[in-house]
Amino acid sequence: HATAKSMADHLEKYTNLFTLSPQRMRMIVDAFEETLDKGLQEWEQVIPMFPTWVFGTPKGTESGDYLALDLGGTNLRVCLVSLLGGCKFEITQTKYRLTEEQKQEDGCKLFDFCAECIKEFIDTHLPNVTHDNPIVIGFTFSYPCLQERIDHGILIRWTKGFGAPNVEGHDVGEMFKESLKKFNVPAVMTALLNDTTGALIASQYVRPKTKIAVILGTGCNAAYSEDIKSIGKLKDKNLDPDDVVAINCEWGAFDSDFHQHLPRTKYDIHIDEHSNKPGEQAFEKMISGRYLGEIFRLVIMELVDEGAMFLGQNTYKLEAPYSLDTAFLSLMESDPTDELLTIIGIFNHFYGLETTLAERQFFRALARLIGRRAARLAACGIAAIVRKKGYLEEGCEVGADGSLYNKYPGFAQRIHQGLVDVLGAKGKNITTYHAEDGSGAGAAIIAAMTKARK
Ligand code: ADP
Repeated sequence: HATAKSMADHLEKYTNLFTLSPQRMRMIVDAFEETLDKGLQEWEQVIPMFPTWVFGTPKGTESGDYLALDLGGTNLRVCLVSLLGGCKFEITQTKYRLTEEQKQEDGCKLFDFCAECIKEFIDTHLPNVTHDNPIVIGFTFSYPCLQERIDHGILIRWTKGFGAPNVEGHDVGEMFKESLKKFNVPAVMTALLNDTTGALIASQYVRPKTKIAVILGTGCNAAYSEDIKSIGKLKDKNLDPDDVVAINCEWGAFDSDFHQHLPRTKYDIHIDEHSNKPGEQAFEKMISGRYLGEIFRLVIMELVDEGAMFLGQNTYKLEAPYSLDTAFLSLMESDPTDELLTIIGIFNHFYGLETTLAERQFFRALARLIGRRAARLAACGIAAIVRKKGYLEEGCEVGADGSLYNKYPGFAQRIHQGLVDVLGAKGKNITTYHAEDGSGAGAAIIAAMTKARK
């Protein structure tokens, strides 16, 4: 009827909600920079800025064979990393499936399984490794840990669907070492790290101009090298003030305290309130792959409730929370056809819904708005580190990894545009590229660096 809003009217409303102006971005960067600094000066701040105890930066000359154990989500990965020097490495890996029971049963069993997998890997691939000639392991354990030294880490809480009892509050480094001993494995674990720190170090090994690493996958995080003398909270630790240490920012928590800086929409607030951790990870919830599809779905459901689309069709499949994966946004944005056939397929096949061309054009535009906002927010975080460290003049490279960065069409270009919008023309000096395998190569390089400093 005559008063019905057109899809163009709806789009205008959402464009206003999801667009970040350069001016708004600059305000976010100012607050971000200040928050990063607070985290460096004091413990227990919104952005924790964890020192990783990985000192210095790799030289690219580190060499030798190391193992990397990667416990990060679906699989357990054991990698043999041969560091060749000359900024090069080779990786051979085996993946071991983790069952749901293993994620939930006693923590000792989980680490015993890790030790058994390593033993099997050594027996199969490394005949020269013996108790007199043990191999060094770097352990990538991508869950939030508080570390007091490089081979130590108290698990703060499990994430990503793990719930193994008797691990939270315990030193995972020690638990893993116990299991290695129990199974008589000829290996020594010397470094515990998370994937973001690994990505930083692996990228610096290959491309020494790298100053920052960013992960844009299920979650969102960054790491960078910081001068010890700038880290007030480490001043009692007797460290060399002229050295640098990798900082694991855990920046996904930005703005979780008073929600003053990020322009959260009601969809962002809904996601937060219905999540298993309300009030946490405010920045991550607007950016990462886990949430972008859900933001999109919530907008569509609002339009369904307003009677603006799918009248007379059954929308129950689309009503299920988290039923729309971020990968669908990628697909919708890259649909090459005028008729938007990919989008027809998605709605038809996965949700049993018929769409009009006007609706499909709206969906694609909405995906763009949500994807673009995410990339521009990520750019704000990168810009804050760049400004804080004064990298704008000389420029720097940023290693980036995760499906959102690697697979979402145009994500990198949108980050670069965002950097120019906040930093001006010199923002072009900040470039991103696909980071090296942080949880594999990074773990090995860190183990090698740790050995060299002993
Ligand atoms: P993780 O961060 O868990 O190590 P990934 O980097 O693969 O793993 O990120 C997984 C996230 O990326 C999921 O939230 C998923 O929705 C999203 N994702 C997967 N494929 C794509 C894609 N093609 N485009 C955008 N996002 C994707």
